[in-house]
Amino acid sequence: MPATDLDQIVSLCKRRGFVYQSAEIYGGFRSTYDYGPLGSLLLRNVKNAWIRSMVQTRDDVVLIDAAILGPPQVWEASGHLGNFTDPLVDCTNCKTRHRLDKLDDPRVCPECGAVDSFTEAREFNLMFKTQAGPVEGAGSDAYLRPETAQGMFTNFAQVLQTARKKPPFGIAQVGKSFRNEITPQNWIFRTREFEQMELEFFVPPADSPTWYEYWCRERMNWYVEHGIPESMLRLRAHDDDELSHYSAGTSDVEFMFPWGFDELEGIAQRTDYDLKQHAEHSGERLDYFDPQTNERYVPYVIEPAAGATRTMAAFLLAAYDEDVINDETRTVLRLHPRLAPYQVAVLPLSRKDTLTPLAHEVRKVLADRYMVDYDETQNIGKRYRRQDEIGTPLAVTVDFDSLDDNAVTVRDRDTTEQVRVPIADLVGAVANKLGF
Ligand code: ATP
Repeated sequence: MPATDLDQIVSLCKRRGFVYQSAEIYGGFRSTYDYGPLGSLLLRNVKNAWIRSMVQTRDDVVLIDAAILGPPQVWEASGHLGNFTDPLVDCTNCKTRHRLDKLDDPRVCPECGAVDSFTEAREFNLMFKTQAGPVEGAGSDAYLRPETAQGMFTNFAQVLQTARKKPPFGIAQVGKSFRNEITPQNWIFRTREFEQMELEFFVPPADSPTWYEYWCRERMNWYVEHGIPESMLRLRAHDDDELSHYSAGTSDVEFMFPWGFDELEGIAQRTDYDLKQHAEHSGERLDYFDPQTNERYVPYVIEPAAGATRTMAAFLLAAYDEDVINDETRTVLRLHPRLAPYQVAVLPLSRKDTLTPLAHEVRKVLADRYMVDYDETQNIGKRYRRQDEIGTPLAVTVDFDSLDDNAVTVRDRDTTEQVRVPIADLVGAVANKLGF
C-alpha cells in the first residue's frame, strides 16, 4: 500500500536523512529544504534516470547545462516579465495571502472561513530579481531562471551548429529553477527553489501533433517503468482557459498525491513562440534550413517539463509499503533499483576483526559499480529493517562461513529471500538481480 498520508514520508525522510528543513538550526527557512545523504542520492538517481531515458538511450536528444542567472532581455522575450504572474488575494480578516486560482471557493478564505473578505486580486510576478555586479541600477538587473527551458531556446542556433542535429531533435536540461511562490506547500511538492528536468523537442511544424501524442505516451510510460503504479497516474488535457500564453495544447501527467491528483509534469505544444520571440528580440536568426527541401522554417516545439524534486516525492509516496515478516511489521520503500539511494548494503554479521577485512573487500568490489552502504552496527535483523526502510534492493551479508567457503548471502528487499553466492560471482549476480 503506498503512503496515504504525507507525514508518513516526511517523518521517514527526516529520520533517515533524506530531506531536512533548510537552516533548521535557525528555525528553518521558508519552505526551503536540504537533501541529506540519502535524499541527495535519490534525487540524483531520479535525474540520472531521466537523462538515461531522454538522452543516453536516444540518438536525437543532446544535453546542455545553462546559467541560472540571466539578463532581463531573455525574460522580456520569453514573456515571463509580463506574464509570469499569479493572482494574489489577501484576507482582510485573518491577513493571510492566497493564490486566487488555487482556492476551492474564490469567495471563502481557507484559513479563517470568512466570506468575501478578500482584497482585489493583484498580479504578482514569480521571478526572483537580483543584481549582477557591485553597482545597483537598471543595467545590473538580473533574474534567477523560473524554468530551465529558455536556455534551450537561447542556445538553439549554437547547438544546431555544433551537435550536427536536425529536426526532429531535442535539447534537454536538468537543473535548479526558482519561483517566488505565494503559497509554497506540501513539503517538497511546491517550493521556491526546486529542480526541473525539461526537454525542448524541435520538429517540422506539420509533425507537431504527432510528436505531442508521442511524448505524452513516452512520459506516462517513464513513470510506470520506474515503479509508479498506473492506477496512481493520469494524463489530463488542459482546458482552453488554463493554457499558458505560448501553448497550443498542454497535458499534465498527474499523480495521486494524498490530497488528490496533482501535476508532476506538463507536456506542452509551445509552437514556434519562443524561437520567434528570441529571434525578434535578439536580432539573431533562430530557424532551420532544410537542404533537402531547400526550405527555411522555424521549428515547432514539444516540451515535456517535469519537476525532479516533486517527482522524487511521488516516487517516495508510491514506493512506501508496510508488510509483515515473521510476525513483525516492517516499513519498506519499494523503490526501483535505479532510483534507490543505495543499490547494495554490505553487512558483516559481526563486528569481529576476523570478518572486517573480507567485508571491506566485498564492499570495494561492489562500490566500483554501485552505490554501497556499509553497516556493521546493531544486530543483523535491525540492519535489514533499516535497509528495507531506505529502499536498498539487496543486502549482502558476510558471515563466518564466508571465511571458509568464499561465499556470501544475498538478501532481496522485496521477498526477503536469501541465496548463497560465491564472492567471485557476486558482481554478476547483483547485476542480474538489479537488472543493470
Ligand atoms: P503548478 O501549476 O503546480 O504551479 P506549473 O504548471 O506552473 O506548476 P510548469 O511551469 O509546467 O509548472 O513546470 C514544470 C514542472 O516543474 C511542474 O510540473 C512541476 O513538476 C515542477 N515545478 C513547477 N513549479 C514548482 C515548484 N514551485 N516546486 C516544485 N516543483 C515545481
